[in-house]
Amino acid sequence: MDLKEIIRDVPDFPKAGILFKDITPLLGDADALRATIEQLARPYRNGAVDLVVGIESRGFIFGTALARELGVGFVPIRKPGKLPADAISAEYELEYGTDKIEIHTDAIAGGQRVALVDDLLATGGTMSAACQLVSELKGKIVGISFVIELSFLNGREKLGDWPIHTLIHY
Ligand code: AMP
Repeated sequence: MDLKEIIRDVPDFPKAGILFKDITPLLGDADALRATIEQLARPYRNGAVDLVVGIESRGFIFGTALARELGVGFVPIRKPGKLPADAISAEYELEYGTDKIEIHTDAIAGGQRVALVDDLLATGGTMSAACQLVSELKGKIVGISFVIELSFLNGREKLGDWPIHTLIHY
């Protein structure tokens, strides 16, 4: 199944000049959704993952399904002020200004093997901050997975030497 065909391009969203990759047609198609989760799970089938960490909010959709597929738990990384218990945060650069993400301090036990998931790799700033949070909690990053990679933005360069898995490239 060619997953690329079911991603919808929306020009000038959320602002002029951005070509938004809309995953909602993929989510709405049973075969495409099953194939996506199956392909995301493939690198981790050897049982080398203890937890899946997903980034708000589209990383929650794929991350939770992936965790269920692998038979492990799921940890959300959230936008600031959303997590109720003790949390740590990491800041990252946007085109204009900075943004922040957070994780509960007790979400990962030291040494747990973690796969991180988001829907799309653009500049890599968001995922790089997420990796910083997981590392700070002494989680062992075993892989970083995306459904879509915008290769021309070279986001991979921000993600060090961790194994990166992407299903669709532009
Ligand atoms: P970045 O930190 O630049 O890698 O941006 C990644 C985050 O922004 C992901 O959570 C994506 O959901 C979102 N994003 C960035 N660019 C796009 C795009 N062209 N289409 C859809 N989502 C995008």
